[in-house]
Amino acid sequence: MTIKKIMSINRSNDQLSIDWSIGKKCNFDCSFCVDNVHDNFSKPLKFEVFKKALLKIKKAYPEKKLEISLDGGEPFLNPDILKIVKFCKDQEVRVGTTSNGSAKLDLLRDVYKYLDYLIISLHQEFYSESIKNKIIELNKMSKTLNKFFRVNLMILPGYIDKIKEDLKFLNGNNIPYIMRKVRPLTYKKSTFILPYKLRNKRDNKQYFNKTELDFLSKYSENNIHADIQLIYDDNTIKNINSNELVFFGKTNFKGWKCRTMFEQMLIKANGDVHYCISAQPFGNKIGNIYTEDFKIIKKDIFCKSDSCNCISDLHITKERI
Ligand code: SF4
Ligand code: SF4
Repeated sequence: MTIKKIMSINRSNDQLSIDWSIGKKCNFDCSFCVDNVHDNFSKPLKFEVFKKALLKIKKAYPEKKLEISLDGGEPFLNPDILKIVKFCKDQEVRVGTTSNGSAKLDLLRDVYKYLDYLIISLHQEFYSESIKNKIIELNKMSKTLNKFFRVNLMILPGYIDKIKEDLKFLNGNNIPYIMRKVRPLTYKKSTFILPYKLRNKRDNKQYFNKTELDFLSKYSENNIHADIQLIYDDNTIKNINSNELVFFGKTNFKGWKCRTMFEQMLIKANGDVHYCISAQPFGNKIGNIYTEDFKIIKKDIFCKSDSCNCISDLHITKERI
């Protein structure tokens, strides 16, 4: 059976998802995180600049409900994060973020009050034990506020003992989590392009050894929550988690018709707007939200990339033609 269409299970037709980097600066330096996503010196996005840009987008998409995911770098290093989040709520924009959990608990709490969801990623190379205490507190707070909270347990090869401890901690404290396998870069000073091109030829088995894969497979049900729908040629439907497509290397949609221009937008720290993350090497920049007249193009596109590996890109409606 061949897949003819992929779509998100949770996205409504009138939703526009925006991944918005509010600063590249990060206090961690994870070995799998490319240099064009984070550094330790960039200036944060100022609230006034964010405000102007958000109003511009609202004007360009009056028919859409906006959902913003604040990214970085580490979003909580932006001193204006509280103002930014409050403004989103004033504008009736759904907003959430993913943090490495290193910020002070008071700040995490203050911002979480206004967020629609909060995700803390546990990065084995850098996190300190104090982050676990903050996770316990934030999980309690999520129940009081009735808001989404989750931990992303980042799975790097070679850290299996630490991962076992993390799982004990998360399960023991009833903290919702997913496990996310990450690929180390072959070299740290990478450009985006080289690992991107190589990615299709690699699979997880080249990084994780058999013991690690056997152990992780026991926890696979933890990742089972379905987030995308696959429609096959004979019209049968299967709901799966998008990570499965990445894990089995089924992410080549070159030539497929893709709805990304209607469903998502990626705003980088410098204001460059791209229609998706995975196809950046193919020149998918559609303008700069901070410096140029912002012209929205609303049309289906035909995918030029042979690797749609990012989870948010996998949620976009795409159809084989
Ligand atoms: S914490 Fe996030 S932004 Fe910072 S280096 Fe790690 S993956 Fe990159
Ligand atoms: S890589 Fe981009 S253009 Fe291609 S299918 Fe994925 S989201 Fe669409």
